[in-house]
Amino acid sequence: MAVVETAPELSSEEIKRYSRHLILPEVGMDGQRKLKQSSVLCIGAGGLGSPAAMYLAAAGIGRIGIVDFDVVDYSNLQRQLLHTTPDVGRSKLASAKDKLNALNPHVQVDTYETSLSSENALNLFEPYDVILDGTDNFPTRYLVNDACVLSGKPNAYGSIFRFEGQASVFATKGGPCYRCLYPEPPPPGLVPSCAEGGVIGVLPGIIGVIQATETIKLMLGIGSALKRYSTMDYTLTVLSLIWVSVPAFFFRNTVHLRTRAKRSRRSMRSAWFSASGNRSPLIARPM
Ligand SMILES: [Zn+2]
Repeated sequence: MAVVETAPELSSEEIKRYSRHLILPEVGMDGQRKLKQSSVLCIGAGGLGSPAAMYLAAAGIGRIGIVDFDVVDYSNLQRQLLHTTPDVGRSKLASAKDKLNALNPHVQVDTYETSLSSENALNLFEPYDVILDGTDNFPTRYLVNDACVLSGKPNAYGSIFRFEGQASVFATKGGPCYRCLYPEPPPPGLVPSCAEGGVIGVLPGIIGVIQATETIKLMLGIGSALKRYSTMDYTLTVLSLIWVSVPAFFFRNTVHLRTRAKRSRRSMRSAWFSASGNRSPLIARPM
């Protein structure tokens, strides 16, 4: 993604800080400089945004923007680890900026105290390489998707519900978008929010870290992003969605992090047909 010739040099303190990255052949000095040159906009500093932003900051992403307008509440502390008990009542942005700067002062943290809207989304996305969707509601999730498609920015997507979470990468060049997976939002009120339905506290940690991982892979240009796309087979679109089911290891004592295996192919095929009724062209359909 980044052109390494123009990437900033690392200071001697940064070389120490990132030494465990620098000795990885897959990252190395060039990769670390790419990370420093990169920028990510996190939509939300909550359950998903917390772990994602912390790991992105620790990894040395040069610029992290955060969009949020919320205030830290006691009910956040069970999972939103950017915020601590003394932060209750503070703005999430102020709390997040303090923590991220303390973790890595080399990261530029930009804060946007606003609610994402169709009026401001494209302007907010413009300076950033990747958009990390940490939203907790469907209208904003579709807005993030559509603005990513319109602006050509990859969408590191994650969502959580009770014991289950999803993560993927949407809107890469030629890749699928969230609407390819779920063409239309569910009717309002059909799917309960975390506040209404609850969420197991570790889940956003797992999903947010997958989002951060995918973001770092995009920045470094290594690995294959969690997206796969074929004009021949729509089911391949979602084969690359990670579906994490916490009860699988929470209650059965076995780690089960499945990367879109057989079950997914079959169930997504039926989901696709039941959602769309037919095979409409797999193209972005912004609102
Ligand atoms: Zn699409």
